[in-house]
Amino acid sequence: MEMHSKVQEYLQKTGYKSFTPKAFLFDMDGVLFDSMPFHAKAWKQALANVGVEFDEYTVYLNEGRTGKSTVNEAFASQLGREATDEEIKNIYEDKANIFMSIAKTQPMPFAKEVLEQLAQLGKKIVLVTGSGQKSLLSKLNETYPTIFSPENMVTSFDVQYGKPHPEPYLMGLQKAGVNPNEAIVIENAPLGVHAGVAANIFTIALNTGILKDEVLAAEGANIILPSMKAFYENLPEILNL
Ligand code: CA
Repeated sequence: MEMHSKVQEYLQKTGYKSFTPKAFLFDMDGVLFDSMPFHAKAWKQALANVGVEFDEYTVYLNEGRTGKSTVNEAFASQLGREATDEEIKNIYEDKANIFMSIAKTQPMPFAKEVLEQLAQLGKKIVLVTGSGQKSLLSKLNETYPTIFSPENMVTSFDVQYGKPHPEPYLMGLQKAGVNPNEAIVIENAPLGVHAGVAANIFTIALNTGILKDEVLAAEGANIILPSMKAFYENLPEILNL
């Protein structure tokens, strides 16, 4: 990894004079939890239940949207209209129930090591997720004890727009009390990368799913790594800046 040249590119593009990462803003699904295969199946099924076709690759492409935005996206492309509030509520509930019935969600390998190391070094850690899946949000504390509390979490309950809008990451910066050039975003989804880049934050994409690297590069990812393990292995170089 050529971290130095990637940082130079970042500085040139954003106009910042320095890059001093003090805060790490983590997406949840596909980054902290290996949950995306189950989300993809659950969305596909919940939308099929109301006669809307939505394949798993499209779920991955749209990952990071709020539930409402995902339903509207599917309705707009398939039915040519937005969904009603009641349809959104019912479909999202159905999706959450299907997810809970099929999910064997595991922590992302090496996420715990990464979080513990950052915490030990006094780095600020913030969760920034478009998810409102309560089963996963409560699992965060079990899986990564002492790391997350409401003060360092941005979820679908906090935001108005959601990813790909920069809003969730701007809120994440606020919660960490840092500027964009003092943070790093860790994302796996194109819309999440887009949101991080739009917030002017150095954005590292972990390609943990089924998408091609090009999709993440097209959204402006500063670095693309194949896994959380690779991120962990590169952490010394990333932190040495
Ligand atoms: Ca994600």
